[in-house]
Amino acid sequence: MRRIDGIIAKYLDTGRLSKEEIEFLLGLEDEADLQKLFALANKVRERFVGNEVHLRGIIEFSNYCSRACLYCGISRHNRHLSRYRMDVEEILEAAKEAVGMGFKTIVLQSGEDPFYSTSTITRLVSQIKAMDVAVTLSVGERRREDYAAWKEAGADRYLLKFETSDPDLYRRLRPGCSMAQRLQCLTYLKDLDYEVGSGIMVGLPGQTLSSMADDILLMRKLQLSMVGIGPFIPHPATPLASAQAGTASLTLKVLAVTRLMLPWANLPSTTALGSVDREGRREGLLAGANVLMLNVTPLKYRRLYEIYPAKAEVEDDPTALKAAAVELVTRLGRRVSSGYGEGPKAMGIANSELRMKS
Ligand code: SF4
Repeated sequence: MRRIDGIIAKYLDTGRLSKEEIEFLLGLEDEADLQKLFALANKVRERFVGNEVHLRGIIEFSNYCSRACLYCGISRHNRHLSRYRMDVEEILEAAKEAVGMGFKTIVLQSGEDPFYSTSTITRLVSQIKAMDVAVTLSVGERRREDYAAWKEAGADRYLLKFETSDPDLYRRLRPGCSMAQRLQCLTYLKDLDYEVGSGIMVGLPGQTLSSMADDILLMRKLQLSMVGIGPFIPHPATPLASAQAGTASLTLKVLAVTRLMLPWANLPSTTALGSVDREGRREGLLAGANVLMLNVTPLKYRRLYEIYPAKAEVEDDPTALKAAAVELVTRLGRRVSSGYGEGPKAMGIANSELRMKS
């Protein structure tokens, strides 16, 4: 028996993979073995979260950031970037348009920008929540009281990617930040009953298959409701400009193994994956993903939220983006969800529950 067949048999029996087995799967190169991994992830996705694909509308409302992450094009060190901040009315208008197009989740994302006070974000959350949608926030590390106020105002979900679980690599890539603080914020969010999302970049300089296996094990330990996985794409205005990019192929392997380890989670087929490979989003949906995040930021700002270069979909208006997403989902024989697309936590399910054989 080939080793992959033994690992799959064990997984189907127990729902578990050891670190060594995860590393083995991330290192697969043989095309037939890869197809076995992706087919299994696709089957697990269908069994646990069904055939619906959730479309989320994301508004990137400020590209100011007080941090200096080495991989990020909107870090405070990028002096060549025009900075923008949307005001409250503009953000609400963009949300209203997205809701009018049928989006059931609005994601508010920005750099770490203290310009937006706790009360401003509270107001945004409660007014968008009144539009009958789920609200996801992704505005970085804040105080526990801030997270509590936003939850109280109606926020459902929070995204805070840890990017790598290797503390040394984390410190190197995110000067002035600590892994411990990131994990503390994730703990606050879990305690406050958010559906918590995190995620990693694949192919960061210094990252190894072993550290990525640790990342996946940490995601499982945290029982995340959502996980975003995208390739590292070097930005020319950052210290990592000449580093090698992460590949679509490794990103798909990480995505597939994450589906095996977090069967109930909502996993997007990310824009970054679609940016390194024209077929990336389709391939992601076939390797365990069940979510598409579509950019509904007004076009005049979209190009400026340049975390990485050559970002896909910076020119397409939201109607065209949505039509393309619906077409893709339908072509795969799946359905676009008309619900809020809650994660396992909101449904009272432990993400580790896995009974493929029952
Ligand atoms: S990765 Fe996030 S926190 Fe770091 S510089 Fe970019 S936007 Fe800011």
